[in-house]
Amino acid sequence: MTAIVADSTETASQQLPLVDIAPYRRGNCGVEYVHRLDSGRPGPSVVVSAITHGNEPCGLIALDYLLRRHVRPLLGVLTLIFCNVRAYQTYDPSRPLAARFLDEDMNRLWEEPRLSGAGSSAELKRAREIRPFVEAADILLDLHSMQSPGAALALAGTAPKGRRLAESVGYPEFVIADRGHENGTRMRDFGAFDAPRARAAALLVECGQHLDPASGEMALTATLRLLAALDMLEEAAAPPPPVRPQVFVNVTEAIAAGSGDFAFLESYRNMTCIARAGTPIARDGRREIVTPYDDCYLVMPSPRIRPGLTAVRFGKRAA
Ligand SMILES: [Zn+2]
Repeated sequence: MTAIVADSTETASQQLPLVDIAPYRRGNCGVEYVHRLDSGRPGPSVVVSAITHGNEPCGLIALDYLLRRHVRPLLGVLTLIFCNVRAYQTYDPSRPLAARFLDEDMNRLWEEPRLSGAGSSAELKRAREIRPFVEAADILLDLHSMQSPGAALALAGTAPKGRRLAESVGYPEFVIADRGHENGTRMRDFGAFDAPRARAAALLVECGQHLDPASGEMALTATLRLLAALDMLEEAAAPPPPVRPQVFVNVTEAIAAGSGDFAFLESYRNMTCIARAGTPIARDGRREIVTPYDDCYLVMPSPRIRPGLTAVRFGKRAA
């Protein structure tokens, strides 16, 4: 069988505009690119964050929308964080992946020993700056995009509170229960967000393919629906709730590329559902990767992946 490697340079014909973030540099709370919008009334503390990965600009559409319109929450506090600003500022359309981070992945370092340790990197420095705002949040919405085309999804963790939060937002259609990454902790899984008994909850929304205009729309829709669900925004100021019911999927297995010769057999779209168990989907050196059960979802297939990193996750529909 001939292995066909999906082209990761495949992009939508029309591209998401890159937001000029320079006007947002000063912020309003002593940390650059952090904007704290306080209603002056009791209520939840919500953080919406963008460009945790510098090559994923969709979340900027949401932050820019709120700041440009001087939206103020009706309740509680809304904090908008431009995360890996320095990486985003290096963005070069001819090599977008290079802007993902400067020194290390900013979404793999959210653990106490690293944040409080002696290590130094551009990303640790920024994470330490924004940590107090993240830690104070009752709810975090971290906006990302993906390499593969296909459906948007929310990564909700494994605790029931993550699923409940995703249900209250209503978008995107797919909600994934997953355990995160072996090679470092995501902001979504930091501290109280991932503690089953703590009140704080978080969603990482993968809004679509990098630079697809639909990813910007999804970032904005998820943000406005979250705020409306929390009564922080008038219902009329948010898009209507979704018509389609959400689909809940449990990740059962993450497939890491073991060799430098990993290739999918087709260019799978995100959340492709493979009907039959045992269907070959990829080749990793001499190893054939097959689906482990019927109706197996391929969660975030990443066509060009370095050895050791997750190439795809298998997902099973939850009740
Ligand atoms: Zn990301």
